[in-house]
Amino acid sequence: MNPPRSETARNSFRQGERVSEERVAKQDSQEEPCSPWPPPRAAGSPSKSSGISPPKVAVVFGTRPEAIKLAPVIRELKARNGCFRTAVCITSQHNELLQQALSILELTVDYDLQIMRENQSLYQVMTAAMSKLEAMMREVEPEAVIVQGDTSTAFAAALASYYIKVPVCHVEAGLRTYDKYAPFPEEINRRLIACIAELNFAPTPKARENLLREGIPSDKIAVVGNTVIDNLLWMVEKIKASEFNAPGIPSLSPQEKLILVTSHRRENFGPGFEGICLALRDIVQKHPEVVVVFSVHPNPNVYLPAHRLIGNLPRVHLIKPLDYRSFVAAMMKSYLILTDSGGVQEEAPVLGKPTLVLRQVTERPEAVELGRAKVVGTQQQEIVREVVRLLEDSDAYREMSSPCSPFGDGKASKRIVDRLEKLVGRGR
Ligand code: UDP
Repeated sequence: MNPPRSETARNSFRQGERVSEERVAKQDSQEEPCSPWPPPRAAGSPSKSSGISPPKVAVVFGTRPEAIKLAPVIRELKARNGCFRTAVCITSQHNELLQQALSILELTVDYDLQIMRENQSLYQVMTAAMSKLEAMMREVEPEAVIVQGDTSTAFAAALASYYIKVPVCHVEAGLRTYDKYAPFPEEINRRLIACIAELNFAPTPKARENLLREGIPSDKIAVVGNTVIDNLLWMVEKIKASEFNAPGIPSLSPQEKLILVTSHRRENFGPGFEGICLALRDIVQKHPEVVVVFSVHPNPNVYLPAHRLIGNLPRVHLIKPLDYRSFVAAMMKSYLILTDSGGVQEEAPVLGKPTLVLRQVTERPEAVELGRAKVVGTQQQEIVREVVRLLEDSDAYREMSSPCSPFGDGKASKRIVDRLEKLVGRGR
């Protein structure tokens, strides 16, 4: 018996790009060589593969944060066995960190497009993603495609779906800085996906307002919360149940205070990143109770200056990126967090950890408005001032550390899949 269609695809894509491209090229020459592929079809109408079987949904992502935020959606899709067939497709835009996240998140991948190359430009990421996605879409024939956030993978997958008239569902839609170069290129990726998406899943009412202001019809927007909170709560339960201690995180005396740091944004490369490192140096010199743990991104623009400027300081631990479970455990143990990460800004308030945002602007103002996060930029003196305030002023610390969850209640994935059922379901 022949393997099912998806099994064949899984194998060929896993064996590497050349095999899969040849295979698709061969298919093209055998099947209807003169007619355009596929015939245009309306959003939500059945594809030739649908028949009586449940609709096929492709979930496409390429980086660690997308994996973290789509994992609960994939779990929810798979839990509704019989309602959907789910194809999990990764581009591996970021390879190492993504692979690390996949195993901790217990995700199985059906298609790996392997587009990652050393030091590739944005042009190269986009062209590689588009050509591999075309082959994948032809193989899978999804009836809906789910993308998340603002990466080049998310934009490429949305565009690839649009070209074959398959509806796109955008998870975490509507975040904006209105500065097209910060974050770069993510701000524009996000705006372009909004134009394409059939369903925009806004995490907060503010994100919905942004979309409405841009002319996205209200029936294409649903405020559902951010799926990052679903996943965080899932992981916190696991950590508590196993009394897990993260490897690489030093054990602390009761007097010591852990400052957890992440920084990887393109806009901060160069002087911004140096400002962050010099601020950390000043803080450990002034405050002997401080222990810094810095999860250092493998990008040479981060890795090299971090090691050059603060690599040899006592009480500064430069560590490799932690797997998601270890990172959540480290956040739980921290006194405060310095970060330019989007996801960490969303997670920290739930854990009651004051967050200083190492950027000029944030597309996640909700935690700032509630006084749980503060945008401090990358100037050395400013970072030092704000950290010292939180170390020395217990009232200021108490105000920023009372837990709250402005980005979601942990049920976003359920709402997303409910809505998807209405879009492509067969009335089960
Ligand atoms: N994270 C992780 N290990 C680390 C640092 C961060 O697993 O060493 C997680 C973090 O909990 C959050 C996500 O990665 O869920 C954020 O990813 P990143 O900062 O790379 O991207 P962004 O959120 O800025 O798009």
